[in-house]
Amino acid sequence: MDYYSSQISKLIEEFSRLPGIGPKSAARLAFHVINMPKEQVEQLANTMIDAKNNVRYCKECYTLTDQEICPICASSERDHKVIMVVENTRDLAAYEKTGKYNGVYHVLHGAISPMLGVGPGDIKLKELMERLQKDVDEVIIATNSSLEGETTAMYISKLIKPTGIKVSRIASGVPVGGDLEYIDEVTLLRALEGRTEL
Ligand code: ZN
Repeated sequence: MDYYSSQISKLIEEFSRLPGIGPKSAARLAFHVINMPKEQVEQLANTMIDAKNNVRYCKECYTLTDQEICPICASSERDHKVIMVVENTRDLAAYEKTGKYNGVYHVLHGAISPMLGVGPGDIKLKELMERLQKDVDEVIIATNSSLEGETTAMYISKLIKPTGIKVSRIASGVPVGGDLEYIDEVTLLRALEGRTEL
């Protein structure tokens, strides 16, 4: 049954498609937007459209950026021979926040999960292997310590081993199943410094 005008119902429906937004939150957000000044609503809508239109994958590391090459890959101050492999851009941001990592990244955009039907071809793995054709000293695998993250780490290390490039895995201490972005910087640094060669 339609309790509200169809426009409001439509707005609630759109909000409820977002992750973590249940029907109640969706209704709260919808009414909040209706009560916002028109200029603010336009600004919000335009910001979303601009972000969607302009954000793309960095051609080197595949993180989300609004430039062809992201600022990290473009920087001559970074060590381009050390590549840290992360599952997503939020994990990259978590390591960047520590301010102590000077290498570059590779963003997989996911992890291998036979249960969810995500195979090696569904993440940016081929792209990683292509990057390794260049001069690379070390690949640090910083996927999550979830089952998927560990499966991915193992898969990647097996792929890289024959190339002779050093492969290491961040230390545990990152809680199992914990999303990297929610882990504090000290724990992340310890995990990075305590990495072990695979
Ligand atoms: Zn990049």
